[in-house]
Amino acid sequence: MCDTLLEENEEICPACMEQLPRTEQASLRGNSTEELFSDIKRFERGGCFMFFDKASPVQQMLHQMKYSETPGIGYQLAKEAAYDFMTADFFDGIDVIIPVPLHKRRLRERGFNQSEWIAKGLSDVTGIPMDTSHILRVVNNQKQATKSGAERKANVEKIFAVSHPEEMYRKHILLVDDIITTGSTLHSCIKTMSAFRGCKVSVFALSKARKTILQ
Ligand SMILES: [Zn+2]
Repeated sequence: MCDTLLEENEEICPACMEQLPRTEQASLRGNSTEELFSDIKRFERGGCFMFFDKASPVQQMLHQMKYSETPGIGYQLAKEAAYDFMTADFFDGIDVIIPVPLHKRRLRERGFNQSEWIAKGLSDVTGIPMDTSHILRVVNNQKQATKSGAERKANVEKIFAVSHPEEMYRKHILLVDDIITTGSTLHSCIKTMSAFRGCKVSVFALSKARKTILQ
């Protein structure tokens, strides 16, 4: 975000880390992330680490993470977020961390799943295991970014499937994504997770659009 030369194993400098627009949502019940999922019965907690505005340094950084083959940014930010969120007991009771999967074709093109790097950062700090085998993305849908609210919802319908649902019986699952805009991708994923009988769901994302960036 600035022009400082980074140290080895550093993806973002300490000064920029200090200045991130943190949401403080970990300790704020009924926050704007939880509001997006208030219609889901088995929903527990929701929180994003930072806000982003259109064309802000944070948005540029997240774009770089995704498209310039630097997923380590996501890993380092997630670790920072994990320490913040742990002090607010955000992870209490969570059994497993699941990143929102990419379709295998998209994964091959990009070479990595950014959400998996974020989930790994959370997992490494909290010690809660990460799982990537029980939710699959079976439809390679178009990118959400250029779509309106209604189009986004239709674009992500029935794109996920589950595998061995009995192994997730009554688990409390933390679903992890990089960015939340309208929450429609996560909604679709949570709908599919109803196949996990008795499961509870929480949601974490690295960043959230401060106001709806649509229209
Ligand atoms: Zn910096």
